[in-house]
Amino acid sequence: MSRSQADYFFGYAGLSHDSGPDHPESPARLSCLLPVLESRVKKGKGRFLDLRPEPDLSAYRASHDFHHVDFLESLTPSAPSVNLDGDTRVGPPTLRALREIAGALRDLSAVPTGTVRRVFCALRPPGHHAHFHGGMGFCALNHLAALAVLRVQANPSETILVLDFDVHHGNGTFDILTRLLPQQQFLFISTHRYPFYPGTGSGRENREGPLGEGVLDIPLPAGTDDEDYRTVLEEWILPRWDRFAPATVLVSAGFDGHVADPLGDMALTEKTYRRIGEVLAERERGLSACFLEGGYSLPALAASVDAFLSGWERE
Ligand SMILES: [Zn+2]
Repeated sequence: MSRSQADYFFGYAGLSHDSGPDHPESPARLSCLLPVLESRVKKGKGRFLDLRPEPDLSAYRASHDFHHVDFLESLTPSAPSVNLDGDTRVGPPTLRALREIAGALRDLSAVPTGTVRRVFCALRPPGHHAHFHGGMGFCALNHLAALAVLRVQANPSETILVLDFDVHHGNGTFDILTRLLPQQQFLFISTHRYPFYPGTGSGRENREGPLGEGVLDIPLPAGTDDEDYRTVLEEWILPRWDRFAPATVLVSAGFDGHVADPLGDMALTEKTYRRIGEVLAERERGLSACFLEGGYSLPALAASVDAFLSGWERE
């Protein structure tokens, strides 16, 4: 594999997870990415990894309340679907999808600190709103936070940067990291529209430790465009990232800040996503793993993921 390639996990079981009729978090969000990834593989840009499902959800037990994990494991084929909140439905296909994602977490948690690996995870349901006690906002479990906890368990000196560029604040990831990880070992950076769902991320909880660790919430107004985002990236995110110099970077890759997205009301284009991919590649010192979060215009999602990967793979 050339150094500039990424590996892809594609969650076929995620295609069966059903959020409900006319729900924006649809299986088509995942299926529209398959031709994008296949085309990149054909051109030698990336490669697919085998995604082997786990028999259970034990990968999530260190990062979520066991009652919630027990409940999700009870979604056997004869169980009815259940609404976790007004827009988050789970059922037996959700359990299959989550066991598949647990397989990705198992493999990613075993990558040694300092080994350069680049992995894009095209999976659903998304995860960044799921908090310690349960699911919310289209998310049943928090994959990125689960991986962060597993990696710190495997290597107690691990340092992790989380970058969340979804248009919504990564409240669930914030909750789990601040609750469970030693504070000197992570830097959580989230750019998001504010005020907006889920209501958190104002910047009041920002803090900076002596090594650059801590929390950097960057609330943005509706209508934020590429030029605005470039300023935020250059002046706020990169100096803090470079100061912390993390071994591992985990990304909540949400593309609902795109100008064509029906939910976000922002004005970003593929240009921003490509640039984020580039800065990720420029700062690589170990594992970089990206998890698909939001993005609800199918053409914009497909084009944005392609642009992001082009930047990341230094095309
Ligand atoms: Zn979102």
